[in-house]
Amino acid sequence: MTDRYFPNQMPDFVEEDPTLQQECQQADKIPEPGTEEALLRLLATPYAAIHESLKRAALDLKETIVVETWGLTGQKVHDFTLYSGVLGTAFLLFKSYQVTHNANDLSLCSHIVKACDFASFYSRDVTFICGRAGVCALGAAVAKNMGDDQMVYYYLSKLKEIRLSSDLPDELLYGRCGYLWACQFINRHLGKETISLVEMGSVIKEIIGNGRNMGGRGRSPLMSEWYGERYWGAAHGLAGIMHVLMDFELKPDECEDVKETLKYMIKNRFQSGNYPVSEEDRQRDVLVHWCHGAPGIALTLVKAAEVFGDKVFLQAAIDAADVVWNRGLLKRVGICHGISGNSYVFLALYRLTGEVRFLYRAKAFSCFLLDRSHKLISEGEMHGGDSRYSLFEGIGGMAYLFLDMVHPTDAKFPAYEL
Ligand SMILES: [Zn+2]
Repeated sequence: MTDRYFPNQMPDFVEEDPTLQQECQQADKIPEPGTEEALLRLLATPYAAIHESLKRAALDLKETIVVETWGLTGQKVHDFTLYSGVLGTAFLLFKSYQVTHNANDLSLCSHIVKACDFASFYSRDVTFICGRAGVCALGAAVAKNMGDDQMVYYYLSKLKEIRLSSDLPDELLYGRCGYLWACQFINRHLGKETISLVEMGSVIKEIIGNGRNMGGRGRSPLMSEWYGERYWGAAHGLAGIMHVLMDFELKPDECEDVKETLKYMIKNRFQSGNYPVSEEDRQRDVLVHWCHGAPGIALTLVKAAEVFGDKVFLQAAIDAADVVWNRGLLKRVGICHGISGNSYVFLALYRLTGEVRFLYRAKAFSCFLLDRSHKLISEGEMHGGDSRYSLFEGIGGMAYLFLDMVHPTDAKFPAYEL
């Protein structure tokens, strides 16, 4: 199934060449983009110079994305979501503000969130990535950064009006975990206990109760279902749910269930090191995406290694990262199922271990995008995404990754790693 990804022909490691630091500033010394020589030269260029190039590219992309998703639409919101809509542009602007401290980014972000608030007022979707909680949570964080207490209060009160229906799934994109993630995002930006544990506790309890009802009996202690399928991945399945649960101080027996659920997945992964899409689909070793497969699960395993300190999780994350290195240079650009999202596996392992080989791999995927994505997308060799400027499917994700490469130890997969 090599049609899903480009064979990764980049060297496993390239030492930095300090003489390239200056050369990359001189236009006559830069090889033709898209050639093997150009990519190898980028890989050997010191990180300090590369991250400057990535930052410049990100800021150019950001301008294009703002024009396409906001300026040219007459500031009308057709899709408010973070995943494929204009809240993703706002999230990118917030990231850009955090990196560059450009107050214009924060101000524009605030305008876009207000428009999303209006557009999502009657939405019944409750999560950060695809629902109303994303609007309220980002709105509160942006208002806090602007010193606007009235708007902080407004967005927090709107978040508290969100009701979770009893038939809601537990997964991240549309379910209870996606709502909890929004609450934790608020607590991260506005201070611990802004949304109290009492408010979130009943939701956590429900997720664990549902998981136990579906799991057990000599299989995974926790299980989950979305539209009749028991998914494993980050977007709709166990990895996303375990990831969010590990953000909370669980009781010892609950911790044990989370650990054993992850160990069940590790034990039943494919021989290649990749992971099945679901309990129902245990044969096809095909997808290497954040949404389904090794990348999203690797991020959860890194978190498990951080939270539980168990070496089993670190080793499994490293194994999954090898799958991403070999089969994760996808013919798609985005965060959800593209090269940009897959790069975060290496950044998470670099953050955890400090090993430069992981930073090199993130740099390699980023340099591949920097050097080739524009040409590959325009020639139809690479899919630019169904929503081509969006955060999760389009070049918005690439811009976000490039901004995260500026301070790689602080990089976090958007709307997944806190
Ligand atoms: Zn996806």
